Amino acid sequence: MRKKVIAGNWKMNKDLNESQNLVSGIIDGLGNDNKCDVIVCPPFTSLSEVHSLIKNTPVKLGAQNVYHENDGAFTGEVSTGMLKSVGCDYVIIGHSERRTIFGEKDDLINKKNKKALADDLKVIFCIGESLAQREEGITNSVVEKQLHKGLDGISSEELNNIIIAYEPIWAIGTGKTATPEQAQEVHSFIRNYISQNFSKESGGKIIIQYGGSVKPDNAASLLSQPDIDGALIGGACLKADSFLSIIAST
Ligand code: PEP
Repeated sequence: MRKKVIAGNWKMNKDLNESQNLVSGIIDGLGNDNKCDVIVCPPFTSLSEVHSLIKNTPVKLGAQNVYHENDGAFTGEVSTGMLKSVGCDYVIIGHSERRTIFGEKDDLINKKNKKALADDLKVIFCIGESLAQREEGITNSVVEKQLHKGLDGISSEELNNIIIAYEPIWAIGTGKTATPEQAQEVHSFIRNYISQNFSKESGGKIIIQYGGSVKPDNAASLLSQPDIDGALIGGACLKADSFLSIIAST
């Protein structure tokens, strides 16, 4: 039985003070409840302070991006070592906003995945199709290509430290959610891909989160699907109450 993993991607929201308030609300509401794993991904500017507050709680810390070099002339980027030095266990890689707004391509995402894993960060690797691609009926081949390129050169052992987040782009921040059946269909495709290209054991173990307008009122039906092992939450993680109520629905 795979334990569910709920992650909150705060995106470019919450200054330091607001970050401290939000994470304090999450910790207070959660208590020692660890029915599922909980990860918060604040902006870089809040990582260190949020880490101080979640120490000795079940909540884990993730960053929203990383670069694949150790150091040097890469203005505006941060390294795996920097993220680890402020307490990150996880990093989100390949988010559709990085792909579409910042032009990140599969080969860069693959380099980031490999670098993060080599340096002992766990990766939340995001994939998903656009509305046009869904309407064209090519969702599975888009997802397959993202998996093939993003996971190139990664071993079955390293895969233990990857969570895949299936996030249909048309459902992110739009209020449109994939139906539980639509999401389940793609999750099952992803799990089969992992079983066939890594091992049956890897396919059985891999955590596949759904992301795209998950809210307290739709979380339970999505999370009850057999291949949906958690959720990556954007908008609904910005208030402790709604994030906690999604966690409760696992
Ligand atoms: C996301 O950006 O990862 C996301 C799922 O956002 P939202 O929940 O707001 O759709």
